[in-house]
Amino acid sequence: MTIPAPPEQLLQVARQLSSLGLNKGASGNASIRLEDGFLVTPSGVPAEQLSASSMVYMQWEGIAEPGKKPSSEWRFHRDILQARPEIHAVVHCHSMFATTIACMARDVPPFHYMMAVVGGDNIRCAPYALFGTQALSDAAVAALQDRKACLLAHHGMIALGQDLPQALAIAVEVENLCEQYWRLLQLGEPALLSSEQMQAVHAQFAGYGQWRK
Ligand code: 13P
Ligand code: ZN
Repeated sequence: MTIPAPPEQLLQVARQLSSLGLNKGASGNASIRLEDGFLVTPSGVPAEQLSASSMVYMQWEGIAEPGKKPSSEWRFHRDILQARPEIHAVVHCHSMFATTIACMARDVPPFHYMMAVVGGDNIRCAPYALFGTQALSDAAVAALQDRKACLLAHHGMIALGQDLPQALAIAVEVENLCEQYWRLLQLGEPALLSSEQMQAVHAQFAGYGQWRK
Protein backbone atom coordinates (compact mmCIF):
# COMPACT_ATOMS: atom_id res chain seq x y z
CA MET A 1 0.00 0.00 0.00
CA THR A 2 1.44 3.39 -0.95
CA ILE A 3 0.95 6.21 1.53
CA PRO A 4 -0.27 9.43 -0.16
CA ALA A 5 2.06 12.45 -0.11
CA PRO A 6 1.52 14.93 2.79
CA PRO A 7 -0.52 17.48 0.74
CA GLU A 8 -2.93 14.70 -0.38
CA GLN A 9 -3.18 13.37 3.18
CA LEU A 10 -4.10 16.86 4.45
CA LEU A 11 -6.67 17.32 1.69
CA GLN A 12 -8.21 13.97 2.55
CA VAL A 13 -8.50 14.74 6.27
CA ALA A 14 -9.94 18.22 5.62
CA ARG A 15 -12.61 16.65 3.42
CA GLN A 16 -13.30 13.92 6.01
CA LEU A 17 -13.71 16.50 8.79
CA SER A 18 -16.37 18.11 6.63
CA SER A 19 -18.10 14.91 5.43
CA LEU A 20 -18.23 13.52 8.99
CA GLY A 21 -19.92 16.74 10.09
CA LEU A 22 -17.08 17.71 12.45
CA ASN A 23 -16.44 20.95 10.57
CA LYS A 24 -18.73 23.26 8.65
CA GLY A 25 -17.70 25.97 6.17
CA ALA A 26 -14.15 27.20 6.64
CA SER A 27 -13.90 26.43 10.36
CA GLY A 28 -11.13 24.15 11.60
CA ASN A 29 -7.71 23.26 10.21
CA ALA A 30 -5.12 20.48 10.17
CA SER A 31 -1.37 20.01 9.92
CA ILE A 32 1.23 17.32 9.34
CA ARG A 33 4.90 17.26 10.33
CA LEU A 34 7.56 17.40 7.60
CA GLU A 35 11.29 16.89 8.08
CA ASP A 36 12.14 20.58 8.18
CA GLY A 37 8.82 22.21 9.13
CA PHE A 38 5.15 21.41 8.69
CA LEU A 39 2.32 21.58 6.20
CA VAL A 40 -0.93 23.28 7.24
CA THR A 41 -4.30 23.99 5.63
CA PRO A 42 -4.79 27.51 4.20
CA SER A 43 -6.83 30.16 6.06
CA GLY A 44 -10.54 30.60 5.42
CA VAL A 45 -11.03 28.05 2.62
CA PRO A 46 -14.04 25.66 2.82
CA ALA A 47 -13.18 21.97 2.35
CA GLU A 48 -14.90 21.74 -1.04
CA GLN A 49 -12.63 24.50 -2.41
CA LEU A 50 -9.39 22.96 -1.16
CA SER A 51 -6.83 21.23 -3.36
CA ALA A 52 -3.55 19.51 -2.50
CA SER A 53 -1.64 22.46 -3.97
CA SER A 54 -3.40 24.93 -1.64
CA MET A 55 -1.72 23.44 1.46
CA VAL A 56 0.89 25.77 2.97
CA TYR A 57 4.46 24.78 3.84
CA MET A 58 5.76 26.52 6.98
CA GLN A 59 9.21 26.70 8.49
CA TRP A 60 9.54 26.17 12.27
CA GLU A 61 10.42 29.86 12.52
CA GLY A 62 6.86 30.67 11.41
CA ILE A 63 7.73 31.72 7.85
CA ALA A 64 5.08 30.64 5.33
CA GLU A 65 5.59 29.62 1.72
CA PRO A 66 5.62 32.87 -0.32
CA GLY A 67 2.26 33.94 -1.73
CA LYS A 68 0.22 31.63 0.54
CA LYS A 69 -1.76 32.43 3.67
CA PRO A 70 -1.61 29.65 6.28
CA SER A 71 -4.32 28.82 8.82
CA SER A 72 -4.73 31.60 11.37
CA GLU A 73 -3.95 28.87 13.94
CA TRP A 74 -0.50 28.02 12.54
CA ARG A 75 1.02 28.97 15.93
CA PHE A 76 -0.67 26.17 17.86
CA HIS A 77 0.02 23.68 15.07
CA ARG A 78 3.74 24.61 15.19
CA ASP A 79 3.96 24.77 18.98
CA ILE A 80 2.21 21.41 19.49
CA LEU A 81 4.41 19.68 16.89
CA GLN A 82 7.51 21.18 18.51
CA ALA A 83 6.46 20.36 22.08
CA ARG A 84 5.42 16.77 21.26
CA PRO A 85 8.00 14.86 19.21
CA GLU A 86 5.82 11.69 19.23
CA ILE A 87 2.96 13.60 17.53
CA HIS A 88 3.05 14.07 13.74
CA ALA A 89 -0.46 15.35 12.99
CA VAL A 90 -2.84 17.92 14.49
CA VAL A 91 -6.55 18.35 13.76
CA HIS A 92 -8.72 21.25 14.96
CA CYS A 93 -12.49 21.43 14.61
CA HIS A 94 -15.61 23.19 15.90
CA SER A 95 -17.70 20.01 16.09
CA MET A 96 -21.11 20.42 17.70
CA PHE A 97 -20.83 18.56 21.00
CA ALA A 98 -17.18 19.25 21.81
CA THR A 99 -17.86 22.94 21.17
CA THR A 100 -21.02 22.84 23.29
CA ILE A 101 -19.06 21.51 26.29
CA ALA A 102 -16.18 23.91 25.50
CA CYS A 103 -18.68 26.79 25.73
CA MET A 104 -19.32 25.75 29.34
CA ALA A 105 -15.53 25.99 29.81
CA ARG A 106 -15.40 22.68 31.65
CA ASP A 107 -13.15 19.63 31.61
CA VAL A 108 -14.80 16.35 30.61
CA PRO A 109 -14.42 13.87 33.52
CA PRO A 110 -13.99 10.05 33.28
CA PHE A 111 -17.66 9.03 33.02
CA HIS A 112 -16.86 6.31 30.43
CA TYR A 113 -13.84 4.02 30.05
CA MET A 114 -13.25 5.27 26.47
CA MET A 115 -11.91 8.48 28.05
CA ALA A 116 -8.63 6.53 28.14
CA VAL A 117 -8.16 6.98 24.37
CA VAL A 118 -7.14 10.60 24.97
CA GLY A 119 -4.21 9.29 27.04
CA GLY A 120 -5.37 10.29 30.53
CA ASP A 121 -8.38 10.42 32.84
CA ASN A 122 -10.07 13.53 31.45
CA ILE A 123 -10.25 15.93 28.53
CA ARG A 124 -9.00 19.30 29.74
CA CYS A 125 -10.57 22.52 28.56
CA ALA A 126 -8.01 25.25 27.85
CA PRO A 127 -9.04 28.69 29.12
CA TYR A 128 -10.42 31.09 26.52
CA ALA A 129 -8.00 33.05 24.36
CA LEU A 130 -8.58 34.87 21.07
CA PHE A 131 -8.29 32.67 17.96
CA GLY A 132 -5.01 32.93 16.09
CA THR A 133 -3.01 34.19 19.07
CA GLN A 134 0.10 33.00 20.88
CA ALA A 135 -2.01 33.07 24.07
CA LEU A 136 -4.34 30.45 22.57
CA SER A 137 -1.37 28.34 21.50
CA ASP A 138 0.18 28.49 25.00
CA ALA A 139 -3.15 27.52 26.61
CA ALA A 140 -3.60 24.62 24.15
CA VAL A 141 -0.09 23.21 24.66
CA ALA A 142 -0.63 23.27 28.46
CA ALA A 143 -4.07 21.60 28.25
CA LEU A 144 -2.63 18.91 25.96
CA GLN A 145 0.09 17.84 28.38
CA ASP A 146 0.06 14.00 28.50
CA ARG A 147 -3.09 14.01 26.37
CA LYS A 148 -4.05 13.50 22.72
CA ALA A 149 -6.95 15.96 22.84
CA CYS A 150 -8.26 19.06 24.58
CA LEU A 151 -11.17 21.46 24.36
CA LEU A 152 -10.66 25.18 23.74
CA ALA A 153 -13.09 27.26 25.81
CA HIS A 154 -15.73 29.05 23.72
CA HIS A 155 -14.11 27.69 20.57
CA GLY A 156 -13.76 23.95 19.77
CA MET A 157 -11.31 21.05 20.16
CA ILE A 158 -7.83 19.89 19.14
CA ALA A 159 -6.92 16.22 18.52
CA LEU A 160 -3.43 14.79 17.99
CA GLY A 161 -2.05 11.64 16.40
CA GLN A 162 1.03 9.85 15.19
CA ASP A 163 -0.51 10.41 11.77
CA LEU A 164 -3.58 12.17 10.34
CA PRO A 165 -5.90 9.13 10.40
CA GLN A 166 -5.12 8.67 14.11
CA ALA A 167 -5.70 12.37 14.87
CA LEU A 168 -9.03 12.18 13.01
CA ALA A 169 -10.02 9.03 14.92
CA ILE A 170 -9.28 10.79 18.22
CA ALA A 171 -11.38 13.79 17.11
CA VAL A 172 -14.29 11.45 16.30
CA GLU A 173 -13.99 9.76 19.71
CA VAL A 174 -13.78 13.10 21.56
CA GLU A 175 -16.90 14.29 19.76
CA ASN A 176 -18.66 11.04 20.72
CA LEU A 177 -17.63 11.39 24.39
CA CYS A 178 -18.77 15.02 24.43
CA GLU A 179 -22.16 14.06 22.99
CA GLN A 180 -22.54 11.41 25.70
CA TYR A 181 -21.46 13.90 28.36
CA TRP A 182 -23.94 16.46 27.05
CA ARG A 183 -26.72 13.85 27.29
CA LEU A 184 -25.65 12.88 30.81
CA LEU A 185 -25.74 16.51 31.92
CA GLN A 186 -29.46 16.56 31.03
CA LEU A 187 -29.97 13.84 33.64
CA GLY A 188 -27.90 15.42 36.43
CA GLU A 189 -24.32 14.89 37.57
CA PRO A 190 -22.84 11.76 35.93
CA ALA A 191 -21.30 8.98 38.04
CA LEU A 192 -17.53 8.82 37.45
CA LEU A 193 -14.91 6.09 37.25
CA SER A 194 -12.26 6.20 40.01
CA SER A 195 -8.58 6.74 39.23
CA GLU A 196 -7.97 3.04 40.12
CA GLN A 197 -10.63 1.97 37.62
CA MET A 198 -9.12 4.25 34.96
CA GLN A 199 -5.64 2.86 35.67
CA ALA A 200 -6.99 -0.62 34.96
CA VAL A 201 -8.49 0.66 31.69
CA HIS A 202 -5.15 2.13 30.59
CA ALA A 203 -3.48 -1.23 31.35
CA GLN A 204 -6.18 -3.14 29.46
CA PHE A 205 -5.81 -0.90 26.39
CA ALA A 206 -2.09 -1.73 26.27
CA GLY A 207 -3.03 -5.21 25.03
CA TYR A 208 -6.14 -4.25 23.04
CA GLY A 209 -6.70 -4.45 19.27
CA GLN A 210 -4.55 -5.86 16.49
CA TRP A 211 -0.84 -6.43 16.80
CA ARG A 212 1.08 -3.39 15.70
CA LYS A 213 3.83 -3.81 13.14
P1 13P B 1 -8.50 29.13 9.55
O1 13P B 1 -9.46 29.04 8.39
O2 13P B 1 -7.62 30.37 9.47
O3 13P B 1 -7.72 27.86 9.72
O4 13P B 1 -9.36 29.36 10.86
C1 13P B 1 -10.41 28.52 11.22
C2 13P B 1 -10.45 28.34 12.71
O5 13P B 1 -11.01 27.36 13.14
C3 13P B 1 -9.84 29.35 13.61
O6 13P B 1 -9.79 28.89 14.91
ZN1 ZN C 1 -11.13 27.29 15.35
